Amino acid sequence: MTEQVFRLIPATLNYPWGKKGSSSLVAQLADGAGIPDFKIDESKSYAEIWMGTHPNAPTRVHSTGQLLSEHLAAHPELVGEPIIKRFGLENGRIPFLFKVLSFDKALPVQIHPNKHAAEHVQSESLKAHVDSNHKPAMALALSDFSALCGFLPTFQVSEFLSFVPEFASLFPSDIITHFTSVARSPDESECKAALKDLFSFYAQIDKEEASVHVKSLVDRYQAGKESDEEKTVKLLVLRLHEMYPNDSGIFCAFILNHFDLKPGHAFSVATGEPHAYITGDIIECMAASDNTIPLAFSPPSHLDIPTFLTNVVYSPAPGRALIQPTMFTRGSTHTSGSLLYNPPIDELAVMQVIVAKGGVESHHKLRGPSIAVVVEGEGTVVWAEGAKRLGVGKGQAVFIAAGTEVKYSAFETAFKLYRAFVEVA
Ligand SMILES: [Zn+2]
Repeated sequence: MTEQVFRLIPATLNYPWGKKGSSSLVAQLADGAGIPDFKIDESKSYAEIWMGTHPNAPTRVHSTGQLLSEHLAAHPELVGEPIIKRFGLENGRIPFLFKVLSFDKALPVQIHPNKHAAEHVQSESLKAHVDSNHKPAMALALSDFSALCGFLPTFQVSEFLSFVPEFASLFPSDIITHFTSVARSPDESECKAALKDLFSFYAQIDKEEASVHVKSLVDRYQAGKESDEEKTVKLLVLRLHEMYPNDSGIFCAFILNHFDLKPGHAFSVATGEPHAYITGDIIECMAASDNTIPLAFSPPSHLDIPTFLTNVVYSPAPGRALIQPTMFTRGSTHTSGSLLYNPPIDELAVMQVIVAKGGVESHHKLRGPSIAVVVEGEGTVVWAEGAKRLGVGKGQAVFIAAGTEVKYSAFETAFKLYRAFVEVA
């Protein structure tokens, strides 16, 4: 018999868009996580912390240092037969990858491929980075969170074309004329086809040439010569320009939806949907995959525009419906502090659990494995009907086996954790 609840050692990733040193939530969590020899380096960027079984940055078991995947392969009952069967899991894998991201510079504008595309990546440059899984994802804001995601409705793109000359000058006149003539059409497929023409042209544009147009746009905005319609988008353009000076990706401000989200707001990202996270601290939970196909804000050697274009999905829509969290009340009277975010993604759901000082929160059995990470305060996880307990503090992550009833108790301070899990009906 192995333990049903045990501590994990997550892995950190130092992408250049991560916040620096101890200002990064990722560094703060890593500092408490019990990663051997970890010490915050104030000159380093701490972008992501990963919890899961993906081999690109695998999690280990704290007490033994063994890979979590190896441990789960030896003890498949911790994951549960129904989950293993449903997702065709091998080698101790779990279906989701759970991350915390902390960034003050935009991540590459990108899409996540669907499963078919992931299995059929041809290009050598991408092959090195792509596994065979799809990657639908959910982003949940822990602080103010700014992001680009999904195509704007075509009429809005067409308005930008009419009052932003630097954006319009990227395109030949026949593309603009056609786009403008159908942008308000009630025929959705006509709009999508026109968007595809316009966007494909933009994606393949010569980066040097486009940066000349970015420069004149930025010069005009910096000189305060924007029209009234450009007041809002100007701020976004200048912000992106500060992060990626003169990068042609800045024109995404006129093509994709921009959101400013508050803590607790969450949305899902479908496969094929272009997006870029700009600034914030977030939970990101996704089907266990590391697949991304970048378009911009990325070194040219990482780009494969033809693959990007065959995988991008054109579904223009205004704004974005946030995921409405619901109180998690399953079979218990002590769950008033548990909020469930359940996106339309089979592989995952995430719970936010807040335990008040001196309080208890209890979760009945879940029909699948979970990983929980404490982001504030400290407390205790209790299981086996009170016979077992584990103290946990900020940054500490634990695995909770399928079918385990757990209680969380707070004593001196309140504490807050996020629990990612998967279930089958
Ligand atoms: Zn992404």
